[in-house]
Amino acid sequence: MTSPQSIKTLKINDIHVSGVEGQTILNVAREHDIEIPTLCNLEGLSPSGSCRLCMVEIKGSPRLLPACVTPIEEGMEISTDSARLLKYRRMIIELLFAERNHICAVCVTNGHCDLQNMAQRLGVDHIRFTYRYPNLPVDASHAQFAVDHNRCILCGRCVRVCDEIEGAHTRDMCCRGIETLIITDLGKPWGTSDTCTSCGKCVNVCPTGALAEKGKSVAEMAKRRAFLPYLVMRREVRK
Ligand code: SF4
Ligand code: SF4
Repeated sequence: MTSPQSIKTLKINDIHVSGVEGQTILNVAREHDIEIPTLCNLEGLSPSGSCRLCMVEIKGSPRLLPACVTPIEEGMEISTDSARLLKYRRMIIELLFAERNHICAVCVTNGHCDLQNMAQRLGVDHIRFTYRYPNLPVDASHAQFAVDHNRCILCGRCVRVCDEIEGAHTRDMCCRGIETLIITDLGKPWGTSDTCTSCGKCVNVCPTGALAEKGKSVAEMAKRRAFLPYLVMRREVRK
């Protein structure tokens, strides 16, 4: 006999909320219409805690913790929208813009980009850090899609959807730190991949213009993500 899941009660932004043991702070916040910003997180994919935008303050903890991978505990008192958090979130967005070449005016996802939207939402109107202007490649060897590393924020959504939903595991990350890049298979041109099914799931979950369909012009590449909750729901039904 399975034991009943235990209910936890806690406070988020001074609002009394409850959740089930094992749920994350982000899950519980969303269930109660409390918005916490994220870029790497996408419902239907496993959480990775990589973008750090969802960091929250927890009373009694000296450290900020990522809401997407931190399980709720009884009596927690969480703040999701303090001035300190806003300061760090803005800084994260600025660092992402400074790290690669995000020229929105000539990007296929201009107007449909999660990074651009997040910058607007957090009031980031200038970048205080020196732009790196790295010299990064574009791989347009696939018949339908292209990857532009200049726009990649290394959120890992494409890696997770390809592995967890499509089951191909064509994508992964290579190298470390500032040298990190997403790769196809073991670093082959995308068009020569033996494992890619050309499903396009990675393109559609990508938050920026890093993955796009060929033939799209500036601002034409809107992402279609309705397949993700649908596929996840169908899997739950079949269990
Ligand atoms: S098109 Fe599909 S199979 Fe190919 S890399 Fe993207 S998610 Fe993986
Ligand atoms: S290509 Fe897109 S989805 Fe993949 S890591 Fe880069 S930004 Fe994220």
